[in-house]
Formats: sequence, C-alpha cells, structure tokens
Amino acid sequence: MSFAELGLSDKVLQAVTESGYTTPTPIQAQAIPHVLGRRDVLGVAQTGTGKTAAFTLPMLTMLEQGRARARMPRTLVLEPTRELAAQVVENFERYGSNHKLNVALLIGGVSFADQDSKITRGVDVLIATPGRLLDHFERGKLLLSGVELLVIDEADRMLDMGFIPDIERIVKLVPFTRQTLFFSATMPPEIQRLADDFLHNPVRIEVARPASTASTITQRLVATGAEGHQKRKTLRKLIRAAEDLKNGIIFCNRKRDVAQLQKSLSNHGFTVAALHGDMDQRARMAALDAFRSGEIPLLVASDVAARGLDIPAVSHVFNFDVPHHAEDYVHRIGRTGRAGRSGAAFTLVGRGDEKSLAAIESLIGQPIGWEAGDLSTLSADDESDEPRARRGRERSTRGRRDEPRGERRDEPRNPRRAEAERRVDAPNRVRGRRSEERPRPAPARPPREADAMPEAEIGLGGHIPAFLLRPIVLKKKNDQE
Ligand code: AMP
Repeated sequence: MSFAELGLSDKVLQAVTESGYTTPTPIQAQAIPHVLGRRDVLGVAQTGTGKTAAFTLPMLTMLEQGRARARMPRTLVLEPTRELAAQVVENFERYGSNHKLNVALLIGGVSFADQDSKITRGVDVLIATPGRLLDHFERGKLLLSGVELLVIDEADRMLDMGFIPDIERIVKLVPFTRQTLFFSATMPPEIQRLADDFLHNPVRIEVARPASTASTITQRLVATGAEGHQKRKTLRKLIRAAEDLKNGIIFCNRKRDVAQLQKSLSNHGFTVAALHGDMDQRARMAALDAFRSGEIPLLVASDVAARGLDIPAVSHVFNFDVPHHAEDYVHRIGRTGRAGRSGAAFTLVGRGDEKSLAAIESLIGQPIGWEAGDLSTLSADDESDEPRARRGRERSTRGRRDEPRGERRDEPRNPRRAEAERRVDAPNRVRGRRSEERPRPAPARPPREADAMPEAEIGLGGHIPAFLLRPIVLKKKNDQE
C-alpha cells in the first residue's frame, strides 16, 4: 500500500514525500480513505501509531476546497494537553507546507489577545485544549457553528483529566451535521458511551496496542528503600552506573515529585530539566526543546506531561515510581528502544509497589528481572526510616494545604480551575550547578569522582523545612482567648 493509493491530494502527497515517509502506517492506510469519504471514524490507537497524520493528511486534502470566515473555524481538533496540541500544529505545518491555510492554536498559558486576532482573521484549522476553547467561546470571540469536521483525540486521556463535561459542551456547540473523528487508546465503557453519542454510523478502526514491549529494550527492576530520599539516592547511583547513557527520561507519578526530583538531581550535579503540568507553556517548551536538541540529557517528567510527545529515541528510561496504571509503564518504556535501537528501562521498586508491579508484569506477559536482588535483599540500612527531623519535614511537605489530599493525578479534575491556577514558573535552570565547592561541567553522568562524594543533599536539597510551611495565624485585635 502506498500513500498515492489513499486518495490524498497532490499537494499533500508531495509534502508526505518531502517528510520522507514512504508507506502509510496501518491506521493511516485504514482511516484516510474513510475520512476522505466523509465518514465518521472511531480510531482505537495509541500515539506512536501515526494517528496524527491519519487525520491531518485527509483534513488538509479536504480543506483545499472552500475558505475560512472570520471567527468561524472550519475544523476543530481537541487535544488533552498543550504539548499534544502543539504537536498537532507542527504536523499541520509539516504536511501543509504546500497549502495556504490558517492554523490557530488555543491553549492555556498564552495571551488571549494573540489568539483572538488569529481567530478574527479566520482559521481553517483550530487546535485547542477544551478549557481554553470554552474560555474563548464564552468571551464571544469564537463561533463554532461553521465547524465541518471535529477531531476528538486521546479521548481516554480527556476522561482521566476530567475534560469530558467540557467536551460534551463543545460537541453541542458544533453543528450536528459535522463529520467526527474520535481517537482513543483504550475503550472503557464511558468512552464507548461518548463515541456512541458523538459519532454517526462510524467506521471502527483498531490498530494493535503496544501491550508487549519491544524486544530491544532491556528492562530491569531495582530494589530500593521506599522513602523519597532513599529513592533519590538509588536513582543517582543508577544513573551514574548506567552504561551507554546518552539521554534519559525519568518518570514520576506525581507532578510535585517531578519538580522536587529535578531540583535534587540538579543539586547533585546532573544537567536535568523538568516537565510537568504546573509549568507554564514557555518553560515546558524550553525544557522539551533543550532535551530534544541534546543540550539537556536528562528530563524528569510526569505521565500526562510526557504522553504522546514526539521525543526522539532515548537511550534510557528510569521509572522513579512504579506507575499506578500498567499501561503507563508500556508508554514510558516505549520512549526507548525505538526503531530497532537498543534501550534500557530501569524501574525503582520499594515495599508497597508489589501490586502495581504485578499488574505491569501481567499486562506485558512476562516477569521483569531484578538488577541486583529483589526486595528481600534490601539491607536493614536501605529499609531504615529516615532520621526523625527529616521524616517530619517530608510529612509536612506532604500535608501542604495547597495540595488536595489523595491528589495523585497529574492534572486536577477541574481543568478550568487548573488553567486559572497555573503558576508562571521561573525559567528552568537547565545548565551548570549551584554549588561553588564542586565546580565541574554537569554531564548526564557526572565523572567518577562524584561517586566518592558524600550523598548528602546540598543546601536544603529538595526539602522544605517544616517551619517554613507552618501556616501563620494572625490574631485579630478583639479576639477572645
Ligand atoms: P503519532 O502516532 O501521530 O504520534 O506519530 C508517531 C511518529 O510516527 C511521529 O514521529 C510521526 O512523524 C511518525 N510517522 C507518522 N506517519 C509515518 C509514516 N507513514 N511512516 C513513518 N513514520 C511516520
């Protein structure tokens, strides 16, 4: 099967050739003719299968007819995260290099004014995260009644992130007669219900899920004490000892751990950037670009922030936490060992992780070997609790008022609120070290002598002393005792 057989326009075919793609992926081969035939499509496919081009290429072909009108986008693509949205824009730019189409991106963390002026000029393709799209709509700057084609991408992620009510609202705002393309990596009953609601007589296309992991990836479990400082120490040792480490992504389950771990690694001389949902758009893009270009060899990331990102193959993946969802494990380690290259994936496992680990091994259908002995081989020292003072500190950090109890997801459930609450991060310090006592360039793997360094944190390390976190209670003058 070649791209030329799919019914795409000459302009699109030319751009595909320029991209160097010769053969359509299974989802492209199956979806493109149906999209061009104006059918609704339900695509069960993960990122990495080429699904972005499966909708971008036929959309470009179809958009060659007709013109955009002010404030009335012709097509709308909904994405759960800003990075995924930005990636779709890149796809439109790459494959649409021979077209004169207006593509606009509506995501949080970017000024409304620039986005407004683009919409006012008329857009052929509007790519948006749901919260920001509704913000624009409510400000009266956007009309969705001209949308001919709607793409809902990563629907199961939208569900995880609490976006479904927003999506349902948006779907009511676009014409009933539109064409709808709906993609999801998994089809739990709730997603199936949405698909039934949103799609008219869809063609269902399912491409193989990467439930099995590539054979080119060496997977290892590393037993560790379960406390944060013990895991950080284990991780540092692991990175320093890793063979052929060119670049690596370190995954954490929670976004606040991403920031803390990045700081700690940086304090220990590693050149490392962070990627998590509380960073503003510019900081996220800067971190990603620096990692992609090789300037920063290590990236600490959360699942949501990293999901679906088009990051070239990395040599190593480190799971600082065992993921709660087994599928996340497959996604994480799929960052390495791409295109037949070899890669290594190390997962830190402490007491309490046994259940999540069993779910992963059951999903991938094989046990994962231990690097140097399983949990039963941990020494008493590895298992010992932290000194009392530090324990208190960690506990106070966990008990911070601004972090909802039990919050384990990367993005809060109410995305509108999350959007409003996003803080503007200071730009990441991605290069060099803070400590004057240990001046040396900071490679991914610090020189050997670093191994002899004491493992103590520098300064406050990643910790915030308890007294700094204690709420200040101001007494009113007339307060009775
Ligand atoms: P996606 O699943 O859309 O995130 O795509 C994953 C990766 O596959 C991206 O880096 C695309 O550039 C690449 N890709 C998409 N289509 C093809 C193709 N037909 N042949 C080779 N690579 C492709």
